[in-house]
Amino acid sequence: MPDYQTLLAQSGLERIDAQVLFSHVSGRNRAWLIAHGQDEADAAIAAAFDTLAARRRAGEPVAYLVGQREFFGRDFKVSPAVLIPRPDTELLVELALARAGQGAQLVDLGTGSGCIPVTIKLERPDLQVSAVDISPTALVVATANAAVLGAEVRFRQSDWFAALAGQRFDVIVSNPPYIEQHDAHLAQGDLRFEPRNALTDEGDGLVHIRSIVAGAPAYLLPQGWLLFEHGYDQGEASRALLAAAGFAQVQTWADLAGLDRVSGGQWQG
Ligand code: GLN
Repeated sequence: MPDYQTLLAQSGLERIDAQVLFSHVSGRNRAWLIAHGQDEADAAIAAAFDTLAARRRAGEPVAYLVGQREFFGRDFKVSPAVLIPRPDTELLVELALARAGQGAQLVDLGTGSGCIPVTIKLERPDLQVSAVDISPTALVVATANAAVLGAEVRFRQSDWFAALAGQRFDVIVSNPPYIEQHDAHLAQGDLRFEPRNALTDEGDGLVHIRSIVAGAPAYLLPQGWLLFEHGYDQGEASRALLAAAGFAQVQTWADLAGLDRVSGGQWQG
C-alpha cells in the first residue's frame, strides 16, 4: 500500500478534489491528512478513494460524489436530481433578505436542493417561507435539507406559479434555468451531469424569465419584490421585461466576479 500522500498524489485529481474525496471516504479532515500523510494507507479506504477518484476523472461533480455542497456556510445534500448550489446564488439570497420586512411572506420558484428558502428561513426565522419545484425528486432533496438543517419551509410541487393560485407574497425569488439551449457550457464540466431541465429552457435562455416576470404581478402584494438570477449577458433583457411588466425600482446587481447576476423590481400594486 502507498502512503496517504502518495495515494492522493497519484490520483491524477486536483489537490482540493482529492482532499474532499479522501475526507468523505475516510472521515478524516485535512489536518489529519497532513499529520498522517506518510502512514501506510488503509486498504479499504484506499479502495473506496480509488473508486471515487476514477468517477471524478470521468467528470462526475465532486458534490454528487460526496452528496453535499456548502452554500451560505451550511452543508446541503445534493443528488443528480438537483442543480449543485453555486456561490453566485448567495447574492440572490442576500438581496431577498435585505428586502423582506418583518414577518414577510416569501416564495422560491424552482427550488431544486432548497438551498435558497432553507438559507433564508435560517437567517430570518421571522419570515414565512415557501418553495415550489416541478420535480418531485428535487422536492425530496429539498425537504430533507430543510429537515436536517431545521428550517420550517413549506414545499409543494408546482410548475412555477401553477399551484399558488390565490396566494400573494412580499418577495418572490427564483434561480430559474436560464442557459440558452445551444450554449457550449452545457457540454462542459459539472453541467454535463446536472439535470438538463434545471439548466436550460431549451430556448433562448429567457423563456422561464419571461413567464416568471409576466406571472409575478398576480402573486405579489403591493410594494412586493421580484428577484431572479440570470446569465451574465441577460441583465439588459431582464430589466426590459421588468419595466414592460410595470415594475418600479428595476435594477441589476453584479456578483463577486463583477458580472450581472440578479435583476429585480418592486410591484406598485
Ligand atoms: N434554486 C436552486 C439553486 O439555486 C435550483 C435552481 C435550478 O435548478 N435552476 O441552486
